[in-house]
Amino acid sequence: MDKMIEGYRRFIAQGWPARRALFQDLAEHGQNPRAMIVACADSRVDPGMIFDAGPGEMFVVRNVANLIPPYAPDGAQHATSAALEFGVRVLKVKDLVVMGHAMCGGVRALREGVPDEATDFLAPWISVARPVRAKVLRCTDPEEAQELAEQEVVKLSLDNLMTFPWIAEPVRAGALNLHGMCFDIRSGALEVLHTDGMFLPV
Ligand SMILES: [Zn+2]
Repeated sequence: MDKMIEGYRRFIAQGWPARRALFQDLAEHGQNPRAMIVACADSRVDPGMIFDAGPGEMFVVRNVANLIPPYAPDGAQHATSAALEFGVRVLKVKDLVVMGHAMCGGVRALREGVPDEATDFLAPWISVARPVRAKVLRCTDPEEAQELAEQEVVKLSLDNLMTFPWIAEPVRAGALNLHGMCFDIRSGALEVLHTDGMFLPV
């Protein structure tokens, strides 16, 4: 905790004064982010840092392995779907990004199984990406399988986004754009998914 409080003290002494006016404006007028990003909860892939974005610029939801479950309005507690509903229907973001990353532990758990001590929620959550598992079985090289799985998870999440009627409709109308990306924590490279299914560096 000490390290966190120290960090907060640095922020309030240095970062806050520089952004005070911006925060006041955001508090007064509300947020109006143009983009929403779904990223992994992994501590190494902070979207705000990667996109050098300030307060109010991006509506972010982070979960294990940047997964989007299929549309299921069944009354259960769906945190990611709730964030999507707020971002798309209320904030009306124009761009919706799913960003995967290299060396993703969630994707590794998908390929190799979840840790024994984390089966209550992690196993059913990761099972959202079960179809990806079969797709990467043909890879004999574990590193290649991991990288392919990370990319396929992004594609699966994008496919699942289109099962939400209030996402599919604005996408078809050209009012909402979906994007897939992968960030390499080893090199800092960012790859963007193109229409031909290839991830190419920015
Ligand atoms: Zn991850």
